[in-house]
Amino acid sequence: MPTYLEIVVNVPQVTGVFHYHLPPALEGRVWPGHLVEAPFGRQIVQGVVLRYVSVPAVPETRPVLDLIDPQPALTAAQISLAEQLAHETLSPLAACVELMLPPGLSQMADTLYELTEAKDPGQSSAGRLNKAQIRLLELLEKRGPLRGRQIDGSMGKLKWRPSAEGLARRGLVSARMVLPPPTVGPKNVRTAQLGCSPAEFEKRVAELGRPGAAAHSRRLAILRFLTREPGPVDVPWVYAESGGNSSDLRYLAERGFVILGETEVWRDPLAEVDFAPSQPLPLTAGQQAAWAEIQAGLRALPTASVGPAGAADPAGAALAPYLLHGVTGSGKTEIYLYAVEETLRQGRSAIVLVPEIALTPQTVRRFLARFPGQVGLLHSQLSPGERYDTWRRARSGLLSVMVGPRSALFTPFENLGLIVVDECHDDSYYQSDPQPRYHARQAAIAYARLCGAACLLGSATPGVADRYQAERERWRYVSLPERILGHRQVIQTQAERAGGRSRYQPAGEQAESIELPPVQVVDMRAELKAGCTSIFSRPLQEALQQVLAQRQQAILFLNRRGAATYVFCRDCGYTLKCPHCDLPLTYHLQSPDQPHFESARGSLLCHRCGYDRQAPRICPQCGGKRVRHYGTGTQRVEAAAQALLPEARLLRWDAETTRQKGSHELILKHFSNHQADILVGTQMLAKGLDLPLVTLVGVVLADVGLNLPDYRAGERTFQVLTQVAGRAGRSPLGGQVILQTFQPENYVIQAAARHDYAAFYQKELDYRRRLKYPPYSKLVRLEYRHLDPRQAERSAQEMARQLRAWIQAEERRATEIIGPAPCFFARLGGNYRWQIILRGPDPASLIRKRDLGEWRIEVDPPSLL
Ligand code: ADP
Ligand code: ZN
Repeated sequence: MPTYLEIVVNVPQVTGVFHYHLPPALEGRVWPGHLVEAPFGRQIVQGVVLRYVSVPAVPETRPVLDLIDPQPALTAAQISLAEQLAHETLSPLAACVELMLPPGLSQMADTLYELTEAKDPGQSSAGRLNKAQIRLLELLEKRGPLRGRQIDGSMGKLKWRPSAEGLARRGLVSARMVLPPPTVGPKNVRTAQLGCSPAEFEKRVAELGRPGAAAHSRRLAILRFLTREPGPVDVPWVYAESGGNSSDLRYLAERGFVILGETEVWRDPLAEVDFAPSQPLPLTAGQQAAWAEIQAGLRALPTASVGPAGAADPAGAALAPYLLHGVTGSGKTEIYLYAVEETLRQGRSAIVLVPEIALTPQTVRRFLARFPGQVGLLHSQLSPGERYDTWRRARSGLLSVMVGPRSALFTPFENLGLIVVDECHDDSYYQSDPQPRYHARQAAIAYARLCGAACLLGSATPGVADRYQAERERWRYVSLPERILGHRQVIQTQAERAGGRSRYQPAGEQAESIELPPVQVVDMRAELKAGCTSIFSRPLQEALQQVLAQRQQAILFLNRRGAATYVFCRDCGYTLKCPHCDLPLTYHLQSPDQPHFESARGSLLCHRCGYDRQAPRICPQCGGKRVRHYGTGTQRVEAAAQALLPEARLLRWDAETTRQKGSHELILKHFSNHQADILVGTQMLAKGLDLPLVTLVGVVLADVGLNLPDYRAGERTFQVLTQVAGRAGRSPLGGQVILQTFQPENYVIQAAARHDYAAFYQKELDYRRRLKYPPYSKLVRLEYRHLDPRQAERSAQEMARQLRAWIQAEERRATEIIGPAPCFFARLGGNYRWQIILRGPDPASLIRKRDLGEWRIEVDPPSLL
């Protein structure tokens, strides 16, 4: 009886799994997790083996054709994770499996052709061999086994592949899939070595070209050099030593004087990064308490990974995630480092997720420095070859720590002991495109469970829903309420010059703590009344001048998200809200190709229910005449700062100044070297920078973002304000934050100004409970895009009708439909966007088994914009 396998085929648009059988030749070589080739319809496709099955679902199974890589591509835990993700995010399983294959693996696979032991074709069927087949046999005889791509190079334009299949059918050549070492990337070194004995080449010296010619002496120099070298030598080295070039080498190789080869060097993007190895810091009392709890948990983990796919959570409470809630600068990163060290001591590996590598170079460097040689780094600028090598090094156990953005979660570690999710509130952990649309934070929790590993989520501003989930599901909550005073030595002199207390800390002694920086809220309405029309209030202007005078540094933060779209009264701060939904109305200029908005010139629109009205000229609250929409960019802020402080050195950090590769690092290095005084930037500033000279953070307008029509607008604004404020006052120099606002009484602004997470959390939970938003309900967002706005609207209406019918048929009284309505960002790449929100206890189950065609579906969408 053959072995039957369940396989997920790697074909976009194909959902579901299929059953195949193993041909005898592959018996015993194929296991779950293996990447194989299989027939699918009339194509040959790749697939991943999920499991053995005893009885196939179809009467006639087809055979697996070949094994692409003798080592499994997916671990058992990864297969389980892929299945879980597919179920929860309503995505095709193939898309989830694809997350775990290194990009380019499929392109790198090739076929290896080799002569078999079979008889000389001359006797049996010579007459029927075609020209290509004869050439191919000759080639294989001369050069030994060759890969398809190598044969391509030797056969010119001849279409040889069908002929090769013919030879394989006759048993004259064998063909099998191989995964050659990737040839992309700069780190794959070509080598040369002597191909004949020194005595022989001296005899054949005449073959080197015309004696006396330059080429002749170059070739001779190459051979003399190689004579002195016992093994293969890197080609650039040969050139450097002999003055020869690549055509000389080719010339010599063709005549058998030298053998060219390739050594596989791991392409290690970190090879050139230099950093001083670092030692663990002695923990503060606060860190020590937190660490004791986490260390105990790590030591209580089940000893090995769970093993077979689908195994249920065996260790229960021992695997509850940790929420490490520590204020900005409280030393969370040091705790992560301790946790990784403990994990490595246990002989297990660790994955560390960070929001975005380019924006968190300091954090990344700390991991590299603490565990030199053991850390792999995944980021978007790796070449496919570097990515593939990093993946293989992890799989083979050469690496034991992987640091990277959400994709690092899919590192094929065998014995995973820890997953760290740094800044776990960050929205970059969500992937919205392509499918699967998933949260790496949630996936990390699930994956750690499957692996029997610990999951450590850290943040100064955990999402409200996560904090709530932590309470409900008994995660372990560990807090670091105090900020650590860092950078004592570094800025000793600065501190003394500025008259600050000198707090030199002898090595090995415990660090002190420092207060979070005080926040001054400036009411911009009052500034206007007093005649100050600058985008900088008088207190901010003064503070900036002072920072410059003391040769310290300032950050000016501008929330880009949601600028220019909300309308408010500059006299009283009133924002216009939808009478039905209580969400802020957003401002849209009339545009002839947007029929939905044509009712008004400069209209205000509710993105939840579609309500619209013309923008008022007079404020409904105070009768003021200055109802405006707000719009300013980083460039304007920079120009205004320069005008105010002509001698200041300004640096702008935004999407525009960071288009080029490496520019994030450059800007940060520039600023941290004090080559600039003021950094003007956007959200990028909010990701954990640790800059000792920054003593002032100015938030140009704190309200921006608060008025976006999304239930998470308040949460996001609180998070970004708290994080940005946390960049100030990290050294003995101290620091302050100035928060400019038109709504000083807003609870988000108030809580951020007092660094009061608990107060924000309570208020925000109240609000969510009243309006039935997560965590008190679950949401699914359905989005439709179309070039024709009428078609987009029509499809949305149709879908809404269909959904209502399903809800009715299934008697789901607790499930409601919100919308359809145009999305807040109503146009994207020429397409019009409409959305429908499903809300209820389990809205995903309404559509799980249904095909919604072109609709984009997001379960637990992090944004409704
Ligand atoms: P977080 O990750 O919570 O924002 P960090 O780990 O970046 O905080 O720590 C903030 C600063 O305090 C850094 O400069 C760090 O080097 C320093 N630091 C952290 N822990 C200690 C310690 N135990 N002793 C001395 N300095 C520390
Ligand atoms: Zn409304």
